[in-house]
Amino acid sequence: MPIFYDCQRCTACCRWPGQVRLDEATILSIATYLGLTESAFIQRYTRLRADRRGLALLDQPDGACIFLEDSNCRIQAVKPQQCRDFPNRWNFPGFEKLCHALPRAVDDAEYLRLVTQATGLPPETAA
Ligand code: SF4
Ligand code: SF4
Repeated sequence: MPIFYDCQRCTACCRWPGQVRLDEATILSIATYLGLTESAFIQRYTRLRADRRGLALLDQPDGACIFLEDSNCRIQAVKPQQCRDFPNRWNFPGFEKLCHALPRAVDDAEYLRLVTQATGLPPETAA
């Protein structure tokens, strides 16, 4: 039976080291959501990725994502797909030690429904 991980909104994944990658469509949708031009958004909230192949969100001084505020995502409605997809469409070995999502064994149909609801994409779609 597939396991669906039910996010408990602990925000650990918004605080640990790493990069939140941005594609062009996401840049446009976040900029629009914030009432900024794309260029203003890029200047204010992004940095070059380590591999220099695109942009990622800035961090706050403590390492948390720039959009994490009082345990809430300021751009929840338009947050990047990478954020939506964790931990059901991507994760890493041992993630359960850091992430408080509750594992739930469900049947195939329910898994499809839950993952699609959580991420906006069906589980079989490549991340
Ligand atoms: S964009 Fe939102 S969900 Fe994604 S890491 Fe930042 S605060 Fe967390
Ligand atoms: S996905 Fe996991 S680490 Fe991120 S907020 Fe949900 S429970 Fe916490």
